[in-house]
Amino acid sequence: MAGPPYRPLDAQVIPRFAGIRTFMRAPHVTDLAGVDAVVYGIPFDTATSYRTGPRFGPEAIRSASALLRPYNPALTVNVVDALSIVDYGDLPVSPGDTERTYAQVEEALAPIVEAGAFAAALGGDHSITLAELRALARKHGPMALVQLDSHGDVWDQYFGQQYFHGTTFKRAVEEGLLDAGASVQAGMRGSIYGAQDLQDARDLGFTVLSTDELRDLGPVAYGELVRAKVGARPVFVSFDIDFLDPAFAPGTGTPEVGGFSTAEALALLRALRGITLVGCDVVEVSPPYDGPGMVTALAGATVVYELLSLRALQ
Ligand code: MN
Ligand code: MN
Repeated sequence: MAGPPYRPLDAQVIPRFAGIRTFMRAPHVTDLAGVDAVVYGIPFDTATSYRTGPRFGPEAIRSASALLRPYNPALTVNVVDALSIVDYGDLPVSPGDTERTYAQVEEALAPIVEAGAFAAALGGDHSITLAELRALARKHGPMALVQLDSHGDVWDQYFGQQYFHGTTFKRAVEEGLLDAGASVQAGMRGSIYGAQDLQDARDLGFTVLSTDELRDLGPVAYGELVRAKVGARPVFVSFDIDFLDPAFAPGTGTPEVGGFSTAEALALLRALRGITLVGCDVVEVSPPYDGPGMVTALAGATVVYELLSLRALQ
């Protein structure tokens, strides 16, 4: 059959409940020849502040992804025909040592970025995004960030630590990995330590939308706002699963009530059509706290699928 060299297992031969779990049942491949998109795990969670567990995120997301099918009718794209997708496996990490893990992730990602493959990470807590951005910025320069999260993650430090899941985007701006003026954070909500927490992100240059503001905007206006901000720049989309309401995504470390439904989140992601996506991640999926039916992991897997679909449209 013509088309990409790497394709998922044929569900008419090996049923979706069978086989060894990889993302979307793509082959587990680490040779980058003929690869358009790499899905990989970063099973690291010791930079969390409350509940741990996202070290088990990649395996749960892979398991939940078994039902994802090739054609995305909402975006009218066949992801599998458009992209040769592989599951690269998990990158090496060092539990308890964030900076060492960053070095390992940067090193492991370098050949993927160099090969020009689209890199989609399965987290892991939100600290890991800094290492992904470092690796990608070497090729792309400062990127525009589209962050969907109930938290800004722009603290200066926490528990005396500079590298932490709540400091990621402050570090990323300081390191020149992001063009903050072209970046949009959306979904902020919940109790915070003070009004300055939200102002800190704006002072860094980010456009910040609260959950209420984003809901008032709706998907179409949100998509227009993001496209106007990012322009033709390379974009990294970072989706923290706590963007969703805990009714839809209980399996996460720092849940905030009053969030978005899974349906709303998918509509917001689809509204991003037209951006130049160079990398993405889905973070903070914490299977030990997940609900019946692995609903959080399924939401995470579907978000990755929608992001791959956006890339497939490019
Ligand atoms: Mn976050
Ligand atoms: Mn969060």
